[in-house]
Amino acid sequence: IFGPKRRNSRGVNLNIRSQYQPLMDAMARHMDKRYEARPLLAFEVATDPSLVHEVTSPYDRRQAVGSVLWTSKAQAEQAVDAAWAAFPRWDATPVAERAAILRRFGDLMEAHMAELMTLCSREGGKLLTDGVDEIKEAVDFCRYYAMRAEELFAEPTRLPGPTGESNDLMMGGKGVFAAISPWNFPVAIFCGQVVATAVAGNTVLAKPAEQTSIIAHRVIELLHEAGMPRDVVQLLPGDGPTVGSVLTRDPRITGVVFTGGTDTAQIINRALAGREHAPLPTLVAETGGMNAMIVDSTALPEQVVADVIQSAFQSAGQRCSALRVLYLQDDVADRVIEILEGAMAELHIGDPRDLGTDVGPVIDEDARKNLQAHIDRLKGEGRLLAETRLDAAHTANGTFIAPTAFQIEGIDALEREQFGPILHIVRYHASDIDKVIASINGRGYGLTFGVHSRNESFADEIAKKVRVGNVYVNRNIIGAVVGVQPFGGQGLSGTGPKAGGPNYLLRFATEKTVTVNT
Ligand code: GLU
Repeated sequence: IFGPKRRNSRGVNLNIRSQYQPLMDAMARHMDKRYEARPLLAFEVATDPSLVHEVTSPYDRRQAVGSVLWTSKAQAEQAVDAAWAAFPRWDATPVAERAAILRRFGDLMEAHMAELMTLCSREGGKLLTDGVDEIKEAVDFCRYYAMRAEELFAEPTRLPGPTGESNDLMMGGKGVFAAISPWNFPVAIFCGQVVATAVAGNTVLAKPAEQTSIIAHRVIELLHEAGMPRDVVQLLPGDGPTVGSVLTRDPRITGVVFTGGTDTAQIINRALAGREHAPLPTLVAETGGMNAMIVDSTALPEQVVADVIQSAFQSAGQRCSALRVLYLQDDVADRVIEILEGAMAELHIGDPRDLGTDVGPVIDEDARKNLQAHIDRLKGEGRLLAETRLDAAHTANGTFIAPTAFQIEGIDALEREQFGPILHIVRYHASDIDKVIASINGRGYGLTFGVHSRNESFADEIAKKVRVGNVYVNRNIIGAVVGVQPFGGQGLSGTGPKAGGPNYLLRFATEKTVTVNT
């Protein structure tokens, strides 16, 4: 599966000047460009000024990125008609042709890396390092799913049967899929959903997060340029109540692939289930996490802190894989907290386009307000352990949240996932480890999990007991790599199968057994 047929994208090494400088020069050309995003449908749409929304940068709301024209309800319905009509033709298209489009698309994204990275920071507030990883991951998804589609769908599987009979198992698309994607990986997760559903033979209606519609528009332009027919993948920027409700209520929608909050996944699930005369739906959801890490007394505090800083604060904590609750065994806790405090004081918050920035903005004012309310509440309870200084001169016009660390009693003290740079720390006694595991499992989420210990059997045992999708031992807990660490959780964290894993495409495919009496 991870053989010579496919190599992961190498991206750009920002520490090497000969790679960094040309990228910066290329990015500069897209810095002041004004973008106009609009629905990309199988038919032309007229501009309705009441549906045009201005877009500004999270790091400085005075800076315009462009505008986006939202999809109307009638256009969304018409897009479903087109997707429905295109399905039989696309499903009958040889998989090699479909896979070739994905590969060309991956190559095109690599060629347009500077522009896509610029948009990731301008519209999404992403750091340069996160931007490189983002584009690499999107390209990897294209190449990986192209390879898996050919392996799974090219030839029917001949099955053994009695003499005088042939039995073939054939794979095909299921129908029309809605792909509803998040703003935190506006290229990678967005592309992953779209190309996986499409290469399996489905037609796709892509509804990007409102906050990153311009990036989505540029990405789908490139996908169409790579040869994807305009009625096979359509882009429907807009708001959830309008576009989302068409995509989850229409009986012709076969399934939804969704990444975002657990609450929204429940709403989608109910809407799909409530349809009359509709096929039983497929829902592939990758949702929230309340990810924990357990550190025992044998762990190396310096390494723990480096991994905690990355896990909790990289991407301003806006990853569903990010660390939220750090459990420290009591005899190592003081030392870890002391080093952590020093490391957090060194973090630099600011403009995501500066290589020296460690923590950029959070996505928007709503996110900032919610996170700040949580911080204020915990500060009010006297729980603050460490905090990074926010330099008002650099952050006054954006939506920034300073990394903070708080002491809490346990994971049950958290009502909901806090999607930002906030770390919660719990001290535990060695004899209470089973209770710790029980409370982590009992909380119901199950996405990522970390353990730091030099005691191998301790680490193994914990890894076996936690009910999560991705366990990381003695390292950070973010940045799953396509084809290497298939990603996704269980319970409140998602349905599976795992993105970037060998089984992902199977959920978007239907199986047909053909028996012939010969
Ligand atoms: N796959 C990403 C990671 O491992 C997280 C995806 C997400 O935040 O939805 O960091």
